[in-house]
Amino acid sequence: MSNKGYLTRDWFSNFVFTLGDFQPDSGQIHLPCSLDKKAVFMEMASDLGENNHLEKSSFYTIWQTEFSNVVIPPQQRLTKCSICKEISEQLNVERDTKLRLEIQQRRKEHIDEVRASRAAYYKWRKLAREFPDKYLSLIIDGMDQNKTNIPNFGAQEGNTDMTVRIIGVLCHGATNEAHACLITHYTKETNTNLEALRRVLSSRPVLPPTIILQMDNTSQENKNSRMLSFGASLVEEIKEIKELIMNFLPIGHTHEDIDQFFSRISVELKRSSARTIPELTASIERSYIGARVQLLTQVVDYWAFISSRCIKYKVRDTFSFNITRNAADRAVMRTKDTMHGTVWYPVGDLSNAPLLLSEKTEEWRTNAEKGLIP
Ligand SMILES: [Zn+2]
Repeated sequence: MSNKGYLTRDWFSNFVFTLGDFQPDSGQIHLPCSLDKKAVFMEMASDLGENNHLEKSSFYTIWQTEFSNVVIPPQQRLTKCSICKEISEQLNVERDTKLRLEIQQRRKEHIDEVRASRAAYYKWRKLAREFPDKYLSLIIDGMDQNKTNIPNFGAQEGNTDMTVRIIGVLCHGATNEAHACLITHYTKETNTNLEALRRVLSSRPVLPPTIILQMDNTSQENKNSRMLSFGASLVEEIKEIKELIMNFLPIGHTHEDIDQFFSRISVELKRSSARTIPELTASIERSYIGARVQLLTQVVDYWAFISSRCIKYKVRDTFSFNITRNAADRAVMRTKDTMHGTVWYPVGDLSNAPLLLSEKTEEWRTNAEKGLIP
């Protein structure tokens, strides 16, 4: 194999690994619907540089023969990424060359960002598997609710009376764990995700000093002051935890393993009926080896619990949060604009000082402005 052939295959394997969504029912790997083959080629040309890759026609031949299971679907089946959807729709109708180039540039930036974020997630997951006494990686997400209401009649049509939402939590460490928390009468918001996290963390006999939590980048459920305040409380109150990293993955591109868990549940629910909660529980346990299912009949109102010390911070353009304890055992936060960036920044407008959390927002703000930060 020529050097160009090797580099081309190696690049494409990595591209598919960091961007593709495995489809458990078909064995295919789907790339984002905003892409086309030429865009993938251009991405490779940009990454590898001139004279380091095969020509376009050879690349297409390799894709067709050696990567035949890698496809670009007209619409992403599992994806909820509004950016990919919008770019795809714009490229379908826009004919102006200059405007098309602008859209394509935006697509490249988005794809690059997704790949780098997912690579950061893999890095943490790998570290947690290799050094479980130091790291625990968790990913949390909600399953598409339409598939899990009961009674479920398998392949048959039928009326569904009871809304059941599933929050999935995968833990990566010495062993991999898949938790499914069933919720029947609480709305979709941060409290239920926090309850699922609390239960999963409580179920572990020991916790390593560094916890890395991956979540979807949604402000309603995850990326908000409540989640940050909860994180600060965890670090202050559970002494085993010395550092909590909260990472936010681009919505619709979290498909690595949590969506595979959901896909297997979905496939099982098409195969067999689940008319009651115990039958739904059994279906989930059958669908995924080692799946642990619990029904959340009660959810703590974390908002009421932590509102007195809610962190006021504009989270929109921040994708990674790091919370540690200072010498006074209070939580201190740093942030990064991206999951994959290497530089941690002190929080926003606090005069280049890390955020010190205390009971009263004004108190820590004043302390920070005076430079009273350890
Ligand atoms: Zn996208």
